[in-house]
Amino acid sequence: MQDQQQAIREIRINPVVPSESVLVATARSMRPREAEVPAPRDTRRHVDECPFCTGNEDKTPPEIARWPDDGPWQVRIVENLYPVLGSDGTTGGLVFGLQQAIDGYGRHEVIIDHHRHGIAVHEMEPGHLAAVLRMYRRRMRELYEMDPRLRYALVFKNFGPAAGASMAHTHSQIIALPVVPQNVHDEVTHSKDYYDRHHRCIFCTLIDEALTFEATIYDRESGRIVRRIGVGQYVIERGERFIAVKPFASRYEWEVHILPLAHASDFLDTEDADLDDLARVLRRTMARLDAVIGGAQYNFFLHSAPRGGDYGDIRASYHWHLEICPRTSIPTGFELGSGLFVNTISPEQAAERLRQVDLDNDDRG
Ligand SMILES: [Zn+2]
Ligand SMILES: [Zn+2]
Ligand SMILES: [Zn+2]
Repeated sequence: MQDQQQAIREIRINPVVPSESVLVATARSMRPREAEVPAPRDTRRHVDECPFCTGNEDKTPPEIARWPDDGPWQVRIVENLYPVLGSDGTTGGLVFGLQQAIDGYGRHEVIIDHHRHGIAVHEMEPGHLAAVLRMYRRRMRELYEMDPRLRYALVFKNFGPAAGASMAHTHSQIIALPVVPQNVHDEVTHSKDYYDRHHRCIFCTLIDEALTFEATIYDRESGRIVRRIGVGQYVIERGERFIAVKPFASRYEWEVHILPLAHASDFLDTEDADLDDLARVLRRTMARLDAVIGGAQYNFFLHSAPRGGDYGDIRASYHWHLEICPRTSIPTGFELGSGLFVNTISPEQAAERLRQVDLDNDDRG
């Protein structure tokens, strides 16, 4: 569409977290830096000296869980060799003037997603990926049950050197914290505010708009078309139970969020059939990203209802989701200093390019 190609330069307010605004600037003159060529990811099947590869099980920290229970393992959970959190709190925290600290108490574990060293998510069998997601669910549940002081278990994955992965072997991590991270806190409180005012979940409303909205917005003076919103313009993938959407106010050029279509606040309430469909939508989304970016290096993380706290009942107002943030550029001083992310590709164009990828000859899809 002709009017979609105009340069965009606008500040977009994230409707869920208004403090997370994004500057979308597609004009070339606004490019904050040259596109960089990221270091390639490691695609080897097996690396003799890698502690996460098959045959080196005695070189990892103690094993916590494995799948399947017998026979060769497909997924393993081990303790983190260099945890960012200690396993027990002793000092009780600190409050001194403006300095407030709480104990760095929690758990930090590594989920070895696959026995194959350099396999990408979209290359995994759907059944295997569903098993990885079930391991996330199982371990989150165990950690919450193990210690009532833990308020948030963050599952995330760094894939590729550009995304900060220190180990080349494909893996995810789980960090269970005694506090609710700021991002999750903001989402929970803002979506609760929206719910209190509109009696609707804001995430469900976003999904409905993504699936049904159609509008042409005109300039009142000139009659020129300011913007055209097409049905499904932000939809990247749709499964039976999950949808992958490009956020209107994306912080990262190729950021995509995956949400359950039916309202649900807690990832731990998912059924196995949900995770089967999530695996399928996630694989196809990652395949699209990989095709468009050319070897996607990314972070993804799960946002789900925290435990305890002063939020009241958030079951109706919060909606769990997975955020995928491919790393194609490095934030600059402007972004770090202002908190205003600069996005040089309009989310509408990015969504269109991702949708155009032909996955039909993907026989495992
Ligand atoms: Zn390995
Ligand atoms: Zn919802
Ligand atoms: Zn989120």
